[in-house]
Amino acid sequence: MADTKQLYQEVILDHNKKPRNWGTLADATHKAEGHNPLCGDHLSLTLRMREQVIDAIAFHGESCAICKASASMMTGAVKGRSRRDAETLIQEFRDMATGKLDLDQQPHHLGKLTVFAGVRDLPTRVKCAILPWHTLHAAFHAIASTSTEAEADPMHAPIGGSA
Ligand code: ZN
Repeated sequence: MADTKQLYQEVILDHNKKPRNWGTLADATHKAEGHNPLCGDHLSLTLRMREQVIDAIAFHGESCAICKASASMMTGAVKGRSRRDAETLIQEFRDMATGKLDLDQQPHHLGKLTVFAGVRDLPTRVKCAILPWHTLHAAFHAIASTSTEAEADPMHAPIGGSA
């Protein structure tokens, strides 16, 4: 467990110092703003889809370390992937963070993102970790602004569908 914790801290620190895909895309095809009033996190996400593949993605905003690291890793994980694959990751990350996904027993595609598995034991941080994924989901579904406290709360809203 100590190793997991150390890795988690190293990853968070690294992505806060050097957030990947930081900024705003001028030619974005999809964008959304994400808010987590519980912590004060605010993210602005832009992405460019080309034939159902995420060709480019960028984020910026004011957020806590967990949220920023999660956003940074998310952008790296979904870049170059199809929307369908990204939606699968959104679902899997959400299930992992809320403790619904048993990483040892159930198949998943989270890879390095499993470093965030520990947030399920930190109820106040779950929404920080999920916010970037929630915002990506909103961008796919053309929801301009989303909040972890809104009806589209990731804990309750169904993922998927067509938009
Ligand atoms: Zn936060």
